[in-house]
Amino acid sequence: MSLLKGKRALITGVANRWSIATGIARQMHEHGAALAFTYQGERVKDEVEKLAAELGGGPVIECDVASEDSLARLAPALAQFGKLDALVHSIAFANKDDLAGKTHGTSRGSFGLALDISAYSLIALVQALHDQLADGSSIMALTYLGATAIVPNYNVMGIAKAALEASVRYLAFDLGDRGIRVNAISAGPIKTASARQVAGLSKMLDVVAATAPLRRNVTPDDIGKMAVFLASDLSAAVTADVHFVDGGFHAMGMYPPPQ
Ligand code: NDP
Repeated sequence: MSLLKGKRALITGVANRWSIATGIARQMHEHGAALAFTYQGERVKDEVEKLAAELGGGPVIECDVASEDSLARLAPALAQFGKLDALVHSIAFANKDDLAGKTHGTSRGSFGLALDISAYSLIALVQALHDQLADGSSIMALTYLGATAIVPNYNVMGIAKAALEASVRYLAFDLGDRGIRVNAISAGPIKTASARQVAGLSKMLDVVAATAPLRRNVTPDDIGKMAVFLASDLSAAVTADVHFVDGGFHAMGMYPPPQ
């Protein structure tokens, strides 16, 4: 299948082969997209370059979304790659101490950091890539159920995801006159480096596997398939929404009693 033949996508947030962004990149590559990647720092550069080489060998560019200089270098670095048909935002950060215990323990500084890296970064990327995005392109960001429902320990990250989801809607309105679509994918829990920072992740995975309508956890490739749909012309009229890829867990009103 080549739903993305001739399309160019920028993938952010590949840290290693378990990252959700890696599953997205793999699925987009299988569907014929040409891919460019960003990475945050030297620590992961080699790994991201290795993965990029396996997935078509596109450009690999340093981009720390907390740095204005770094963001300013992004569009020039992509000039040769060409205009983007898809932009994947798969970036989040919060201090580990804030992903356990009580939300009212969050300091002002930690709150600002989580919101900056996990939510404002979408706006910052759109700003930096405004002229690099093709008319009719598709932007997507990764979010989680904790944005709209209480997930113990997710705490400040839930608040950041709520801001991210609101940003998706406002950006969808702003960019809609260029035919650019902006959506969020709400992934079920997946054991990645970021998710491991949230206290009780293993229990969350167990609960989802036991109680979601599909009775299983999701994989980065499950998320990648939704990303392919959102980047493809099949979703030409889909924007400003949050699309769950969580085995249906978000729709449960009560857990079934244990068998
Ligand atoms: P990963 O840890 O694999 O990916 C998170 C990425 O964010 C890493 O590549 C990390 O880079 C990057 N990042 C953090 N800070 C910055 C920064 N300042 N500039 C640029 N990049 C930065 O975890 P996931 O794949 O799980 O996370 C991807 C997205 O999916 C996140 O938005 C997350 O909240 C979301 N999500 C995850 C779920 C899960 O259960 N795993 C569920 C629902 C949503 P580095 O490693 O170099 O710091």
